[in-house]
Amino acid sequence: MNQVPASQPWLEELSHCQLCEWRCGVNRLAGEVGVCRIGAPQVASRNLHPAPPESYTIFMAGCNFRCLYCQNWDIAHFPDSGGQIDGWVEPAEMAREAVAALHSSRARRMGADRLFFSGGCPTCSLSYVERVVYEARQIASDTRVNFDTNGFMTPDSLTRVLEFTTSITFDIRAVDEQVHRALTGAPPAPVLRNAQVVAQHPDKLWEFRVLVVPGMNDGQIEPICRFLVDLDPALPVCFLAFRPNFVLEQHPGASWELMQQAVSIAYDCGLQKATWAGHPGLPGISRTAHSSAYLVPGAKLAGTYAQAVGCGTHPRNCGGCPQVHCCPVKSYHPSRRT
Ligand code: SF4
Ligand code: SF4
Repeated sequence: MNQVPASQPWLEELSHCQLCEWRCGVNRLAGEVGVCRIGAPQVASRNLHPAPPESYTIFMAGCNFRCLYCQNWDIAHFPDSGGQIDGWVEPAEMAREAVAALHSSRARRMGADRLFFSGGCPTCSLSYVERVVYEARQIASDTRVNFDTNGFMTPDSLTRVLEFTTSITFDIRAVDEQVHRALTGAPPAPVLRNAQVVAQHPDKLWEFRVLVVPGMNDGQIEPICRFLVDLDPALPVCFLAFRPNFVLEQHPGASWELMQQAVSIAYDCGLQKATWAGHPGLPGISRTAHSSAYLVPGAKLAGTYAQAVGCGTHPRNCGGCPQVHCCPVKSYHPSRRT
């Protein structure tokens, strides 16, 4: 793995990291880690990617959430996952490679027209992302950029994201405190606050995305839609069908009927652009909800799964958890991936 050069002034903010709402204040350049457990930014992988918006996608290692359903758990929970990553890539080199890939015949055939920063959550690598974008626009000033986020960034970080992005894909999991905490380990308030800000920049929004996990946040579809319609009925929303993965590797996938129902609920609530995507109907067997730490049924079920793998803080609160650096969720290794 390549070493991070000693002197990079644009990385300086990581010596007291406040990029996301955990506001850990740790010195990531000196080996300290916060909730995301990532030191200097590292590229997990990068390639041309056909999912809309078609792009050259750069997956950044690390995430400030510990979602039970994570599809990219080996990237999000590096280094605890033991996953293989590309490591440190000089921003100028990354930019050259990305711009070249975007101007290739393969990109044209695919329709790839932008860089797409994902992860994990690229907020934890914001300084690096900005630098790659800067370098890319030195080569091709019209380089488009998408930022794919769980929304758990500080207002200052969001302002920076809005400055350089062409588009944003923004995940919302729940508006209910208990359901959001049980699924992700984090409170929903910063996410909803940032969603309100992004909604004021509709030209920047590719879509809000709602992963639908049956029995857990399907009861949140209507509250999320009502939240969005109050902001602007024209906001686009895409529901993603949950597939059994990570801690929820045995949980049943979202059904075709549930995904259709999600879109119907969105239109009934008054949203004007709703769709769904993904591969529904994957089989599984749900646990029985018994966690007494949650009152809301969906949160109770999600909390039951978290407890089963050893998560000891309930309602989940990764930023204030004594297990934050020896977390059984973060180091969980599923036996299958769908
Ligand atoms: S969790 Fe957020 S604030 Fe904490 S170190 Fe990571 S990016 Fe910085
Ligand atoms: S054990 Fe603590 S850090 Fe790990 S998922 Fe549970 S609340 Fe979060």
